[in-house]
Amino acid sequence: MKKTLYCKLTGGREDDEIFQKAAAVIQAGGLVAFPTETVYGLGADAFNARAAKEIYAAKGRPSDNPLIVHICRQEDLQKAASEVCEKAKLLTEAFWPGPLTVILPKNAAIPASTTGGLHTVAVRMPQHPAALSLIAASKTLIAAPSANTSGRPSTTNAMHVKEDLDGKIDMILDGGAVQIGLESTIVDLTEEIPVILRPGFITKEMLEAVVGPVRTDPALVKENEAPKAPGMKYRHYAPKAPLYLVSGTAEAVTEKINALCRQAKAEGKKTAVIADDGSCGRYAADVVVSAGSREDGRSIASGLYDILRGFDRDGADVIYSECFEDNELGQAIMNRLLKAAGHRVLQA
Ligand code: AMP
Ligand code: MG
Repeated sequence: MKKTLYCKLTGGREDDEIFQKAAAVIQAGGLVAFPTETVYGLGADAFNARAAKEIYAAKGRPSDNPLIVHICRQEDLQKAASEVCEKAKLLTEAFWPGPLTVILPKNAAIPASTTGGLHTVAVRMPQHPAALSLIAASKTLIAAPSANTSGRPSTTNAMHVKEDLDGKIDMILDGGAVQIGLESTIVDLTEEIPVILRPGFITKEMLEAVVGPVRTDPALVKENEAPKAPGMKYRHYAPKAPLYLVSGTAEAVTEKINALCRQAKAEGKKTAVIADDGSCGRYAADVVVSAGSREDGRSIASGLYDILRGFDRDGADVIYSECFEDNELGQAIMNRLLKAAGHRVLQA
């Protein structure tokens, strides 16, 4: 067991000392969890192969699942990638700092353990001031996946990070709750037409407005195809209890979920339901939570992982959820819910 140092950030000058301490940990090959605008990241020196391996060990992450290299200045992209194509320039200028990760050919200086043995590298410049300060103070690039135990929902506040990684990492920087709550959009720029490997806050339409046609990895919609982002093939974001998505008209969904809950209760199970602000009063489950307002994808995204983690604390035995495709973040939200549910969808 390690002693994990926990530091609360205030956003003021007094944080500088904390960033210096965290930077020293990174430079010594240690692991620091830090806030970004998407989810919390678990960072290590991107050029240190041994430190990258420590990340996999702390998370229990399969070693073929590459990390994202985080930078704090546009010009550092060249340190991670060997070639920066025109579309990469356009997209990073448009969306960085921000929730967009680009896949490019790897610079030889980045060790294979950071990229899961791939010849390509994932790079992002986050928008959170604490993330940028930590990278700048470390004077290196920071390889970071999400700061959660592999398979569990990503962490959106420092308490979540503590739950999963206390005693396994060197330091946690607490910057409060994150803004977006879903991982970055990943776009592969190694092909002529950019391919979305993971949907996120930056949508296909937003990308197309900058670089023209963009495709979506077919594996994101078809369960049996091998996804191009290695991480997307694992069951992920999942609470401990089985989760079922229920699809159909609002009325039919309510009726079906209530029938399923009655049946599960008769079997002695503790039932949980994910609804929206309008429908949450209509369910007779042991735990009913509202994901937010159906039209406002941002409200749903920001709280989704906290809701999924909450079911573990409540000890739910089975979870039923409404679907949330009808908003601008619907694709990203449904992608995470489908994976959390292991693609179990019941038609109402
Ligand atoms: P996480 O930071 O935990 O969200 O995980 C990083 C995600 O980026 C995983 O889904 C990886 O599979 C994906 N990723 C990282 N590097 C690459 C790459 N070179 N090619 C494709 N996907 C990548
Ligand atoms: Mg992750």
